[in-house]
Amino acid sequence: MCDNHDIQTTDPEMKDVLTKRRMIQGIAAGTMVGYTAAASGCATNPETGDRQFILIGESQLNSMAAQSWADAKQKQKVSTDPRYTQRLARIGSRISQGAGRGDQSWDYAVFDDDTKNAFVLPGNRVGFYKGMMDFAETDSQIAAIMGHEVGHVSGRHAAERVSQQMAGNLAVQAGSAYGSSKLMDKCRELDRQMRASGRYNRAEIQRCVASAQRNSQLLSAGLGIGLMYGLILPYSRKHELQADILGAKYMHKAGYDVRESVTLWEKMAAENTSRQPEWMSTHPDPARRAQQLSDFITAQGW
Ligand SMILES: [Zn+2]
Repeated sequence: MCDNHDIQTTDPEMKDVLTKRRMIQGIAAGTMVGYTAAASGCATNPETGDRQFILIGESQLNSMAAQSWADAKQKQKVSTDPRYTQRLARIGSRISQGAGRGDQSWDYAVFDDDTKNAFVLPGNRVGFYKGMMDFAETDSQIAAIMGHEVGHVSGRHAAERVSQQMAGNLAVQAGSAYGSSKLMDKCRELDRQMRASGRYNRAEIQRCVASAQRNSQLLSAGLGIGLMYGLILPYSRKHELQADILGAKYMHKAGYDVRESVTLWEKMAAENTSRQPEWMSTHPDPARRAQQLSDFITAQGW
């Protein structure tokens, strides 16, 4: 949101509405700034150098995440097997030190499930599924995933995504309300002209209103889809790739074999030849991740 994300359209009427979108976003952001005054607007992330659009404070985010973390641990079976829990805590401790966050408190959980996945919630809460730890095999490969999750923390990715969604929702509401009223203005004008000329045609007015309603629905959907594909998903991919690079840096500082991150993603690419489209659309291709990591590690001379 600190960059331009304009929706392309050739329809002049739609164009007029859409050019108001950035203004609307500004208004939406301004509204949000009103009640999240502590941490709003564009800020430079000291770790990545990125300009980020942040509307939500860390403490607000932490309390949102506390509930999700409690739910996750309540709804899913948490492993107490020390071969998993102690291993994860040990790797987590080394990586958080590698990230310069060893003085912060971290909470780790291993979920007793074959899913090959891991996640991080605001407030330094890292969840690994057993399936991920089994698949990763070596400590360095687990450290690659851990580094990635810690990369999401230092990249402030959760705050950025939530902020985009908050502003996005407001922009969709404001944008479609504005668009609908513009379309409806046309029908009012038609109604006025007909009355003035004394040739009133009720059916034509009804057609105009029906068409305005249909178009405002399309407009609302279009703005929503535009936000989803033009803004949120690319950011998500960008975040994933950035977290990979940050993770490799932390692995290196913590003394793990960084090349194992490439091995992990190559293994994942070989494994996931028939992945579900949903996974594919929200995550970068594993082969691409392996390649990016390999290029980065080579460039660092590690
Ligand atoms: Zn990720």
